[in-house]
Amino acid sequence: MAFTGLKTAVTSAPVLAMPDFAKLFTVECDASMFGFGVILVQEGHPVAFFSRPVAPPHRSLATYERELIGLVQAASTCTAPWALVDGMVAFDGRLYIPPASPLLQEILAAIHNDGHEGIHRTLHRLWQDFHFPNMRHLVQDFVKACVTCQQYKSDHLRSAGLLQPLPVPSAVWVDIGIDFIEALPRVQGKTIILSVMDHFSKYCHFIPLAHPYTAESVAHAFFANIIRLHGVPQSIVSDRDLDSPTIRSYEPGETRVATVAQEMEERAAFLNDIRYRLEQAQQRAAASLPRSAIGKLKPRYIGPYQVAELINEVAVQLQLPPGARLHDVFHIGVLKKFVSTPPAVPLLLPPLLHGAVVPAPA
Ligand SMILES: [Zn+2]
Repeated sequence: MAFTGLKTAVTSAPVLAMPDFAKLFTVECDASMFGFGVILVQEGHPVAFFSRPVAPPHRSLATYERELIGLVQAASTCTAPWALVDGMVAFDGRLYIPPASPLLQEILAAIHNDGHEGIHRTLHRLWQDFHFPNMRHLVQDFVKACVTCQQYKSDHLRSAGLLQPLPVPSAVWVDIGIDFIEALPRVQGKTIILSVMDHFSKYCHFIPLAHPYTAESVAHAFFANIIRLHGVPQSIVSDRDLDSPTIRSYEPGETRVATVAQEMEERAAFLNDIRYRLEQAQQRAAASLPRSAIGKLKPRYIGPYQVAELINEVAVQLQLPPGARLHDVFHIGVLKKFVSTPPAVPLLLPPLLHGAVVPAPA
């Protein structure tokens, strides 16, 4: 019998129960001449073990004395991280919060909402005073779902590549952008508009095309309407790939006719001036964006708003509140996915001017 019991004991791992501090603990201890063992038991389940050899000077002591020494050593070892402080359970000096406690979310909110710090710093601050299982995951989920953080913080992972301004062109009809506006009502057999815009002058041509258009029909329309008037551009920006040859520009001294030369030089000076102004405008736009976005107390994102429709790969239509004086189609580059439960009623938009949030008086 004893052998069978021993065999079971050495071939099966003892299963330790989680301590429940609301219930009574029992300490079982035993000591021999050479060693002593202590088991912390709760409702018949072992919670912790402790065993040590008896120090040689203690071997001559009485059994009850050796047991007492073992008990003291076990008590200082087994219970070291756990303690009862003011009726609350502390682990390693930090307050233990059971996973099911409603206090958990309140503590997370209290620590995080004081400064809305990121996952790492929120975790660090919590760890100083609290202990609960799965702390890292709970903090991650909480911070990711925080509405304030989502409105005020930019998404570091988002590529801003699509929103970079194009370089300022050097002359008219050198750098142009083209786009196809499709699925329009049929007028004289045409349902598509090819829009061609000069990035420098912002002058635009709208060329009607019939469906279906081919590279050849587009090229014909492009020659007849653009190249005939403005020459061959140096670059064409499009969401479809198009090749483009180079353009000849006027160089001083190229013509001997004085009036033509003067006119060309005046034109060059005028274009230089425009180029300077465009650069200034672009710099102002670039400078104004981060300032309004970085401002510590100004939200960078408004919302959340429901996606009503995917317009194409980079544009979505949002369900804005009724009466919103803002175009409801947005480039995905300016949007951020909202985590957590959206509000039942869409939030009202802040006052807008030319599609931008009006700065609140300081
Ligand atoms: Zn937050």
